[in-house]
Amino acid sequence: MSESPRRFIAGAVCPRCGAQDRIRVFTVAGRTQRECVACDFADELVQAGSEAVPKGRLDRPRRPASDGTRPLQFHPPKRKPPP
Ligand SMILES: [Zn+2]
Repeated sequence: MSESPRRFIAGAVCPRCGAQDRIRVFTVAGRTQRECVACDFADELVQAGSEAVPKGRLDRPRRPASDGTRPLQFHPPKRKPPP
């Protein structure tokens, strides 16, 4: 009744069998559970700080370019105008 649809977590790796994209997350009675469909791994995700968030590219801190460096820019080659 209170069970949410199960969603696969893109890029998540099973801590037991190491399979990628085999982790499904769902909530039961407000508790977030995860399970692996490649093995029978299952546990509960503890909502404590950032541990509940799977590691991803969004965790990488963006460093502002304040140290004098500028982002590399590519300029297309200029075309000569037709004569
Ligand atoms: Zn597994």
